[in-house]
Amino acid sequence: MANSDAPTVPAVSFSDLTTIRVGGTIGSLLNAKDRVGIIEAVEGADSAGVPVCVLGGGSNLLASDEHFAGLVVRDARRAIHVLDEAAPVESGDRTVHVGATAGTNWDDLIMYCLDMGLSGVEGLSGIPGTVGASVVQNISAYGQEAAQSVASAEVWDRQEKRTRTLAARDMAFGYRTSLLKASMYRAPGEPAGRFFPTPRYVVLSVTFALRHSAQGKVDSDQLARALGVGQGDEMPAVRIRQAVLGIRAGKGMLEDPARYSNPWMLGCREERGIRAASDPLAAIRPDDTRSLDSGTGEMLNRNSCGSFFTNPVLTAGQAARLPKDAPRFPAPGGPGGGSAPTMIKTSAAWLIDHAGFHKGFALPGSGAALSTAHTLALTNRGTATAAQVVELARTIRDGVRSTYGVELVPEPVLVGLSLD
Ligand SMILES: Cc1cc2nc3c(=O)[nH]c(=O)nc-3n(C[C@H](O)[C@H](O)[C@H](O)COP(=O)(O)OP(=O)(O)OC[C@H]3O[C@@H](n4cnc5c(N)ncnc54)[C@H](O)[C@@H]3O)c2cc1C
Repeated sequence: MANSDAPTVPAVSFSDLTTIRVGGTIGSLLNAKDRVGIIEAVEGADSAGVPVCVLGGGSNLLASDEHFAGLVVRDARRAIHVLDEAAPVESGDRTVHVGATAGTNWDDLIMYCLDMGLSGVEGLSGIPGTVGASVVQNISAYGQEAAQSVASAEVWDRQEKRTRTLAARDMAFGYRTSLLKASMYRAPGEPAGRFFPTPRYVVLSVTFALRHSAQGKVDSDQLARALGVGQGDEMPAVRIRQAVLGIRAGKGMLEDPARYSNPWMLGCREERGIRAASDPLAAIRPDDTRSLDSGTGEMLNRNSCGSFFTNPVLTAGQAARLPKDAPRFPAPGGPGGGSAPTMIKTSAAWLIDHAGFHKGFALPGSGAALSTAHTLALTNRGTATAAQVVELARTIRDGVRSTYGVELVPEPVLVGLSLD
């Protein structure tokens, strides 16, 4: 008979481990402390036919409210090494290679690089998540993308059951995609059963090629305007980081640092990183109604997966059918990183807004809503279920489809869920 006095430890749920804070309980969670532990856990689950989800920061994943009868593995290693510190001085080449284990917090890596006087990733400051996942969807922001700095990744190949080193050129990087991400899908947004919800290639570590310079390049127009400089100008990389964090805070695009006091998230990020994420949020002015609830002063938009839909990449014919004022950008490479020169990227945020779903939009009685600061982010206002987030996403996807004939594809990995 169970001892009723025994303390009950609540089961861990995806809502504890993801930034949108929804999702059901998990069969088992392993925080693997070494490389062998990760490989053995993934290989053991694959051989036994147990569903396995390798989880980083949970910032690009939306899990169902149902129980996940499988294994969730997190890489608990957080190690960063400069691999060739002496080389730039000896050869005059300013490239410095930095290696980081997959479980390293992405923004902690950026802070480390800036401390070492290395530039190349400062524009990606404040993107939540881990080093391992950064190469899965080729994170990008403010004119930079991971692909520009990645030299190689060491992976566990679940199909060939061996470790491999993938050079950047082998990783088929494209807009928010890579060989790794593609291995989970048969078509954009359509999971392929075998490996999903984690790629065939489990990232163990990534090596980045950075520039030994305290100067960074201002790669986006929005960033240039915020800094009062020209696009393409060089300036201290730390100032670029600060500007990026400020813009992100105003758009609700920083993760909530309070999540690291959740017992399941303790130790997942360096303390100073948590403080660095808190400062730009603390600087939000009390009259900023986009970011703060005017009644309670509470931070709005704190639970999300970031952008919920990727920007559609269209053929010239599809793009021609959009209204004249719809944004259009050249997208060389297309969605799969191919060489189709005629693809055109449009703005998912524009389509959503012009289809009638404005910032703050919510379905009646739902705890899920569009962010009040960013049309592309679906947020959990605190009480949302995964089913409510999906209902909102489906409504928006269908509305954009019927207004513009464009199919929006979700960016987060949907576990046990579908918009169909
Ligand atoms: C507020 C906010 C803002 C954001 N802004 C941006 C942005 O500007 N640009 C951008 O590109 N993204 C953005 N994102 C999305 C997200 O931060 C990135 O996709 C990030 O790389 C996800 O990292 P993660 O560790 O949290 O991945 P998770 O959500 O844990 O996992 C996502 C996928 O990666 C897989 N994965 C995780 N670790 C590994 C590994 N070691 N090996 C193989 N597969 C792995 C998982 O299995 C899953 O399929 C934002 C998210 C939020 C919440």
